[in-house]
Amino acid sequence: MSNPRIEVDLSKIRSNTQTVVGLLKARGIGVTAVTKAVCGHPAIARAMLDGGAAGLAEARLSNVKRLRQAGITGPVTLIRTPMLSQVDDVVQVCEASYNTEIAVIAALAAAALRQNAVHGIILMVEMGDLREGIMPQDLGGMALQVVDMPGVALKGIGANFACLSGLAPTAEKMRALSVLANDVEGQCGPFLQTVSGGNSANLPWAFGARATGRINDLRIGEAILLGVDPITGDQIGGMFRDAFTLFAEVIETDSKSVRPLVNCADHTLARIQLVPDTSETKRIILAIGHQDTDAAGLSMPPGNTLIGATSDHLVIGTKDAALCVGSEMPFNMNYGALMRAMAAPEIQINLRNDRPLPIARDAYGPSKHLTLV
Ligand SMILES: *Cc1c(COP(=O)(O)O)cnc(C)c1O
Repeated sequence: MSNPRIEVDLSKIRSNTQTVVGLLKARGIGVTAVTKAVCGHPAIARAMLDGGAAGLAEARLSNVKRLRQAGITGPVTLIRTPMLSQVDDVVQVCEASYNTEIAVIAALAAAALRQNAVHGIILMVEMGDLREGIMPQDLGGMALQVVDMPGVALKGIGANFACLSGLAPTAEKMRALSVLANDVEGQCGPFLQTVSGGNSANLPWAFGARATGRINDLRIGEAILLGVDPITGDQIGGMFRDAFTLFAEVIETDSKSVRPLVNCADHTLARIQLVPDTSETKRIILAIGHQDTDAAGLSMPPGNTLIGATSDHLVIGTKDAALCVGSEMPFNMNYGALMRAMAAPEIQINLRNDRPLPIARDAYGPSKHLTLV
């Protein structure tokens, strides 16, 4: 086995998806599975669809193309507002996209007309995260313009929380989004098929007892991949936290005294911290670094402490006397570490249990996705 590598247990991804889908179904909410943290990895996307996700969402067009090239035919929505320079490809590979700029929507409409297609538009509303979104008071006017534009169809509205600001969605915000959905329909006519309340940070609200109103979709990435609530970092009941394991290889073991004489301009080195120089702690080096992952987002196996990392090295203090050159060390990753590791060209990705569960195949077989194209 080559190192560094990520072992992905696809049965855990399927199971996590089934758990979220089942819990949200009871609340009248469908799951759109977000693949951006795994760079649109097709086998992981398939596991999400096998687990019952209604469709996929991606932030990057390059990842959508990867999904399509692997033969994934179900609906894919672009959740980052499209670049003006990419509208032709967006229309070609995505059924719909989230949008905030009328100039981009007009360009998507023109591209769709050239391709004899209709592209779905979901308008993203700003509700407090202060990242992307149309101000609520401007939503009705924008929706009217979309409805009048040939080549595009207004499919819905959505909001996003807890990305830039860390602000969690409240029941009050969700009610306000439902009211906006009703207002837009009142103003411009067409029924809004999708009212997308947010991302994994919405799950505590969605699992709660409060009415879900018009919200009928959530875009879920982190909770499916890592089994956690992104705001608290707590495990979600019944979900696996270890679908992904990163392995790195020891390239130096040394009981040298931990007294780094740091005197250099490279501020990444200055991050090195001292670990207690006790006799049973030795310092080891693994062949992985900032270029591969977010070292601070790795959870150390028991008995190990992160000392520091540079571009290509991870330095750890360990009490594990058995570790030697060539040993492998497993790590669980948080979202930031996972996202970077999945994008790192030198990390091999090994799939385990790459086989749909029989139940999942019966319930959500490929024919369903084919008809949805
Ligand atoms: C990343 C993203 C999501 C998914 O977020 P998770 O926390 O991974 O569930 C949903 N919507 C938008 C707009 C995003 O950018």
